[in-house]
Amino acid sequence: MTTILERGNKMTTKKAVHGAFNFIGGKWGRSSKGGSFENINPATEEVIDFYPDSTAEDVDRAVQFARKAFHSWRKVPVAKRGEILLKAMQILAAKKEEISRAQTKEMGKILKETRGDVQEAIDTAFYYAGEGRRLFGQTTTSELPNKFSMSVRMPVGICGLITPWNFPTAIPSWKIFPALICGNTLILKPASDTPESAVHLVRALEEAGVPPGVVNLVHGRGSTAGKYLLEHPDVNLISFTGSSFVGSQIGASCGKAFKKCNLELGGKNAQIVMEDAKLDLAIEGALWGAFGTAGQRCTATSRVLVHEKVFKEFEERFVERVKRIKVGNGLEESTEMGPMINRSQLKKVQEYVEIGKHKDRAKLLAGGERYTEGECGKGFFFKPTVFEGTSKMRISQEEIFGPVAVLIRVKSFEESMEVLNSTVYGLSGSIYTQDVNRVMRAIQDMETGITYINAPTIGAEVHLPFGGVKQTGNGHREAGTTALEIFSEWKAVYVDYSGTLQRAQIDTHDGDKNS
Ligand code: NAD
Repeated sequence: MTTILERGNKMTTKKAVHGAFNFIGGKWGRSSKGGSFENINPATEEVIDFYPDSTAEDVDRAVQFARKAFHSWRKVPVAKRGEILLKAMQILAAKKEEISRAQTKEMGKILKETRGDVQEAIDTAFYYAGEGRRLFGQTTTSELPNKFSMSVRMPVGICGLITPWNFPTAIPSWKIFPALICGNTLILKPASDTPESAVHLVRALEEAGVPPGVVNLVHGRGSTAGKYLLEHPDVNLISFTGSSFVGSQIGASCGKAFKKCNLELGGKNAQIVMEDAKLDLAIEGALWGAFGTAGQRCTATSRVLVHEKVFKEFEERFVERVKRIKVGNGLEESTEMGPMINRSQLKKVQEYVEIGKHKDRAKLLAGGERYTEGECGKGFFFKPTVFEGTSKMRISQEEIFGPVAVLIRVKSFEESMEVLNSTVYGLSGSIYTQDVNRVMRAIQDMETGITYINAPTIGAEVHLPFGGVKQTGNGHREAGTTALEIFSEWKAVYVDYSGTLQRAQIDTHDGDKNS
């Protein structure tokens, strides 16, 4: 029996080959070589099922089907494509509880959050279904007489979608729905830690009537299935959400091959608490921001920058509340925080805590260890952890992606901005204050793609642009109308009905008379 452990992954490749969970050319099937990997419940360490460990041949088949289907799908009227999305939305809504429970089982986050994750996919489908009756271009004037100009959106072609495990329904949906409404066909390679959520999403699309080949699902490892998809010459676009480490490799590969590419990557987000903040609100915000999804969100609040005048009170009350967070199996309604996604993520968090304690010499205020007994003794649970530290420490600079918050003392608004902007990331930032002038300056000065006022660093809505600056991405934004920029290409169209040869720039400025 072979065992392959991928970086940061709980996936193991074993002989057992259960489900036919790849969806290629409208048919569910197994990997061509018959390999499979385990899907493990991170709260119990039990194997839920086995999923196809896809090969280059599987990926190639999926791409060929997507290529074939593209010719007809791009010509389906956009309103009709929108109707299919609307149907998918209704199917997801009807199955919301079933999908949420499956997601909690394979991903670990609490039911309230997985319901939110599935709801986000429902909202996204609804939003882009509406684009079926919009997808606006521009009509404009011409510099020449008897000439008409407009711009129209065209599909990009075959899209490879590579997604992480932390929002296993929502993130694929942010890519799939705008890709489809724009007339593209696609291959989804979901994270191997959360394959079942992807199956539910694709089944909803199948039931909604998406034609064979338009949506394909290929499971497997990033280093194999992901890489084959990335490097396949017939794929026109790669839409990637994941770590900045992998994202930079994806960007380089796409650059070399002239593939369109959007990257949604890591974060090291901060919440600022000024001395005039409503402390109750700021504490609740930081709790939710830092420990929601056990800190495994790209927008998680991993730094809390507190004004020195209220630092002591904030620290005492925050730490007291953190120690009362109810950790456990996310399937129980009363649980407030679930486990880490896998053993290696747990190990990574443990390592960062050791760095915090011994190298950074930060002050540990709560948590700092895994559970060794009781319900959380099994599974990948880690105690909600709080450090008091400074801005330059590694735990204040690097993405930990776990339930670890660093409290940092600041003396002024100006210093808080400097500290907030001091990392290589730029996804989300938040400020709690009652001062309208500081609010406006924060909006102006935060180097982030998302800025919250008197709200935590998490909680994006589907109709606004989502993404970040610096090493958080490559300048694109998902969600809202901005996602249409990723999944379509602009075409400028000129219709000349003058019956003569008119030369732009030349005829209007008599340029040729002088030549
Ligand atoms: P990851 O980068 O390890 O993996 C993401 C996906 O890429 C997975 O499907 C994986 O199998 C695949 N992959 C890995 N190596 C690959 C390769 N060489 N070629 C092709 N595909 C490859 O990230 P993760 O651990 O799944 O997710 C956590 C990261 O995602 C965090 O850094 C987090 O901040 C980030 N994230 C960002 C956003 C955002 O929108 N900015 C949202 C959620 C998560």
